[in-house]
Amino acid sequence: MGLAALLRYTYNKGGQPFLPGNFLKQVGSMATHFVDVAPLGPIPDVLTYALPPEWLGVVRPGMRVLVPLGKRLVTGCIVVLRDTPPVDTPKFVADLLDDQPSLSPELVELTHWMADYYVASWGETIRAALPRALQTESVQNATLTAEGRQAAADSPRTALESRLLTLLSQHRSLSLKQLQRRIAARGVRHAIQRLAAAGLVEVSQKVSAPKLPALTELTFELALPPAEVKAIVQTLERRAPQQTAVLRYVLQAGQCPAAELRRRVPHTNQVVRALEQKGILRRVPRERGSTLAWHTEEAFLDEPAVTLNPAQSQALERICQFLQEDQFAPVLLHGVTGSGKTEVYMRAIATALAQGKRVIYLVPEIALTPQLLARIHARFGQAVAVLHSRLTRGERIDEWSRIHKQQASIAIGPRSAVFAPLERVGLIIVDEEHDPSYKQEDAPRYLARDVAIMRAKLANAVVVLGSATPSLESFSNAQQKRYHYMQLPDRVRTQDLPPVVIVDLRREDNRAGVGEVLSHPLRQAIAARMVQGEQSLLFLNRRGYATFVQCHDCGFICQCPRCSVTLTFHIDDRLLKCHYCQYSSQPPETCPTCRGTRVEYFGTGTQKVEREVRRLFPRARVARMDRDATGGRHAYQDILQRLARGEIDILIGTQMITKGHDFPRITLVGVVSADVTLGLPDFRAAERTFQVLTQVAGRAGRGAVSGQVIIQTYAPQHYAIQHAQTHDFLGFYAEEMTYRRRLGYPPAVRLAALRFDARDPQAVEQFCHAFVALLRPYIRQAEGVTILGPAPAVLAKLKDRYRWHLLVKAPTARRLHEVIEQGFSTLKQAAIPRNGVRLAIDVDPVNLL
Ligand code: ADP
Ligand code: ZN
Repeated sequence: MGLAALLRYTYNKGGQPFLPGNFLKQVGSMATHFVDVAPLGPIPDVLTYALPPEWLGVVRPGMRVLVPLGKRLVTGCIVVLRDTPPVDTPKFVADLLDDQPSLSPELVELTHWMADYYVASWGETIRAALPRALQTESVQNATLTAEGRQAAADSPRTALESRLLTLLSQHRSLSLKQLQRRIAARGVRHAIQRLAAAGLVEVSQKVSAPKLPALTELTFELALPPAEVKAIVQTLERRAPQQTAVLRYVLQAGQCPAAELRRRVPHTNQVVRALEQKGILRRVPRERGSTLAWHTEEAFLDEPAVTLNPAQSQALERICQFLQEDQFAPVLLHGVTGSGKTEVYMRAIATALAQGKRVIYLVPEIALTPQLLARIHARFGQAVAVLHSRLTRGERIDEWSRIHKQQASIAIGPRSAVFAPLERVGLIIVDEEHDPSYKQEDAPRYLARDVAIMRAKLANAVVVLGSATPSLESFSNAQQKRYHYMQLPDRVRTQDLPPVVIVDLRREDNRAGVGEVLSHPLRQAIAARMVQGEQSLLFLNRRGYATFVQCHDCGFICQCPRCSVTLTFHIDDRLLKCHYCQYSSQPPETCPTCRGTRVEYFGTGTQKVEREVRRLFPRARVARMDRDATGGRHAYQDILQRLARGEIDILIGTQMITKGHDFPRITLVGVVSADVTLGLPDFRAAERTFQVLTQVAGRAGRGAVSGQVIIQTYAPQHYAIQHAQTHDFLGFYAEEMTYRRRLGYPPAVRLAALRFDARDPQAVEQFCHAFVALLRPYIRQAEGVTILGPAPAVLAKLKDRYRWHLLVKAPTARRLHEVIEQGFSTLKQAAIPRNGVRLAIDVDPVNLL
């Protein structure tokens, strides 16, 4: 059996890999002549290549290589070394891009599991695990040949070819992209190919592989005792003023970075060389640490050393016990909002570090607040590396390299930080584990929480899932004893969770004027907090001003021409915008269909709430936080800092304001409409509503003064709202689970969504039905497996593509994978015409729209 086959064999499909830990390492020391390479793209195969002899013993799995694929060179990652040749004669690896593996053996295994489980190519999952900034770019360059230079002058060609030849004769070499940009006509690539075939143009491929930055900097220090140097300075004073200046500075500063010296003294290089030769100064390389400007805003850091309460101590003790055992241990830490979960994480991290282990700390993107960063940095300093999308490219590469070189021992970030290249990971924290942002919606469609669990399993690590509102999946795993369950039932500062008042918007007397958003009770509550000098938070999960624009006369509604959604009116720039594509347009003054002039604005977004608040409370200091709030990459941080300093009275926002923040002076939380999430056509609508209400309510009354929550809704009887009102997670869980069981939705079953889309609505419908026909025989055979659909998706058209979908349900993940696999292998054989239909698989889907 070949190694690749053996490797495959040791994986049980869709289950867990059970490779012995150092399997890949042993192979690495054997003499190998061939490598299996996963090209970093959606090409589904792992291909075998031959190794040039000089690389024997050098290459290891996890290194990036360039390999020929068809006529191109592509980047790939070595996944397996083999000593037996494949059946066909393989091509040679073209180049080696790494001298150290970019992926550790553990991550090679992890990405393999992901490829199997999420039905993606191994290359795609590896790509997801590498920072985008490190991925190679290949550029194709065109140059004129000697004959080409001749031809530019005379021989007759097509207009396009002539233009290309002329352009190329003016430049030494141009990339195909540059040519396309300059000529802006169709067929540039093809024309270049023809010219190349005629020998007039030469096309070469260049690959740029970003190198990791050096994480050391050059510094200088005194090579002699300071007293001696002082004496030397006196003798040098007049003869060499430059040298004196340098020595004075180093005497004062101690170790001094070369860059700093250069800034202070002219001609530093010469001067310093002279001092080195005299043996007064010497150079030392030094780790330069993180270049991130840490958010050490005082306002975020008023935390005295706390004594853990009994529930916290108990949870921490058990986690530390698991850490001691060096074994895989999944933990669900269920603590109400403000119960001190973060404090437990911090101490568990300290314990893991003390054992020489490293830590991954995952947070939802929008919970990665300056507050949390300041807290974790205050505790662990330069041991922390941050990975997230708001860093610049350079900062990102820098932080990733600090992790890769094991200079940092804690990696914190959103979902992709689960791939942090740390070795000896002993603890993984997944904060707000229920958060939908852990799901990646593009291929590979993975759920970082589950990948974290698999990574912990591979590393024999402890994984702590924390939440005030655990996902049904995780809670049911805890109930079935697959996860250890720990609870923090009480808040640390105040005794009680805030009382929740539900305002029934169906009742006339609650409502204010026509088209007004804030009910009487909510207005009064805000006014009362203003008087007290306390802060209020108003939450609405919809941005923009009005959510649809309609003609009063004929009922016409403004829709996106590319997507089947209504356009949202944004008052800041007075534009109608599509929230799914980039489309925007001026709002019509007259109706485009009936020419009527009564065009009206309906529905409420955060901008409308802001307007009303400013009108009702002209003296209040108001801020809005949503994706439209502009002001550069520090905008959110600025708002949160002002909030922390007490410079904002009323903050309005989308779900961005629901998570992670801990501001003791917020005493009122108003939910402008609980019905936004409740109305989603998705089986998780109730769960999302319960989660979001509980989370946002949890922002109130975290300090000494107790808080209050007001929820406005047209559906006050709904169980999600009722249970949120009483902070009753268990009640909600029990009720929701009965629906999930009855209707057959996760966690009662395992689910995969198959999505089909195409520009041609008929093509997608036909393909979809043909595919289901292929799948049906297996569905009947496999007991307990059902399919729903095919049917048009709720968002029936997005970006000009028509969308259909199909849900496959099965009692276990294994069954689910079997059915999907059979479906695909028959699809391959059946050769149904594709007609431009794209097909995507989403295992454990989160978004069903
Ligand atoms: P959670 O993550 O559960 O919402 P946090 O860990 O953010 O809660 O804790 C909320 C606040 O309470 C923080 O400011 C934290 O410093 C503080 N805190 C945590 N544990 C204690 C404790 N045992 N005693 C006093 N204050 C605490
Ligand atoms: Zn659109």
